[in-house]
Amino acid sequence: MNKPRHHELQSIEVSNDNKCDQCTNSKCCTYVTQQIDTPKSKYDFEILLWQVSHKNMGAYKDEDGWFIIFETECTHLEMDGRCGIYEDRPTICRSHTNDYCEFDAPAEEGFKLWFPDYQSLLVYCKKRFKKWSTGNPPPN
Ligand code: SF4
Ligand code: SF4
Repeated sequence: MNKPRHHELQSIEVSNDNKCDQCTNSKCCTYVTQQIDTPKSKYDFEILLWQVSHKNMGAYKDEDGWFIIFETECTHLEMDGRCGIYEDRPTICRSHTNDYCEFDAPAEEGFKLWFPDYQSLLVYCKKRFKKWSTGNPPPN
């Protein structure tokens, strides 16, 4: 995310200092994630099924827990990959590290569970619960 300037550095060896300058898609600026409580009940999964039914929405579990992800490009991302509000960028952007980021490998590779859509989550629900029938009511 720390991308103050875009330079033509295609032939230079990649390091943490120049990686963002060479990153062509600035993947880290194209989605929002939100941690959620670990889903346990059938109704918890009903909520997740509803959420991932929407375009650009997914859910995953990694070593930090469960998250929903919404793929949507930041409105401040400029055509050349620079941040349009670099001096005023939010804390989340400032704290993002490029030590090992989407430039190096797709984030999905680090997920323990990955549900990019309704169908993938439904298959999981049917495996996780012996008797799964969509339409489970909220707990009393
Ligand atoms: S994905 Fe990585 S290399 Fe690309 S802009 Fe974000 S932090 Fe920098
Ligand atoms: S504010 Fe800047 S650094 Fe943060 S996500 Fe948007 S473009 Fe990226």
